Amino acid sequence: MYTCADCAVRACGTPEPEDLPKNCPMREREMMDRALEKYSLSENRDFYVTASEIEAIGYCQWPRVKETVQLCLRMGYHKIGLAFCRGLSWEAKVFSDILRRAGLEVVSVICKTGGVDKTACGIPEEHKIHPNEFEPMCNPIAQALLLNEQHTDFNIALGLCVGHDSLFYKYSDALVTTLIAKDRVLAHNPAGALYCAEGYFRGRNT
Ligand code: SF4
Repeated sequence: MYTCADCAVRACGTPEPEDLPKNCPMREREMMDRALEKYSLSENRDFYVTASEIEAIGYCQWPRVKETVQLCLRMGYHKIGLAFCRGLSWEAKVFSDILRRAGLEVVSVICKTGGVDKTACGIPEEHKIHPNEFEPMCNPIAQALLLNEQHTDFNIALGLCVGHDSLFYKYSDALVTTLIAKDRVLAHNPAGALYCAEGYFRGRNT
């Protein structure tokens, strides 16, 4: 089992690592080589190099919005899919306008598309936010299928719920990046809970 998150050695950050931890994944030479080979595949190479160049050019200067727009432009994408949460409709509109001003075409699909009540997919009535009322389900699979049908070059997830985002990633034909990770309590900054985990939030970790 690998436990990089607990490692104090961090030999992977040195050019000629010695004294690897016993369970260091870098001991899996064959798997490391297999991973490296995949960056040479045409489907990955330009994308990975471009993303890494953006990391360097905008390092500590460009906000994620700009990094995302730049990735689309530098990859030569034209049609961008935006799968967004109804709760972040305003953010989706602002971001769509930014993408369009950059010369990109935007196909956007809201999470509630389909207008299907939550019970239709097996969610018990008592597990709705407001039981016994119509409550449209989030529909990340439909979001993905609709963007697939539109043949988007690249998709962006904006504020999809935890787990709903996973299904969107699963069914999207195009590669996906996430602009906003939803956190209704922390202004969409999930890292805030980590920064406070050993302070004010102690004891609230689960
Ligand atoms: S890859 Fe190896 S050296 Fe790097 S953090 Fe993981 S265990 Fe530590």
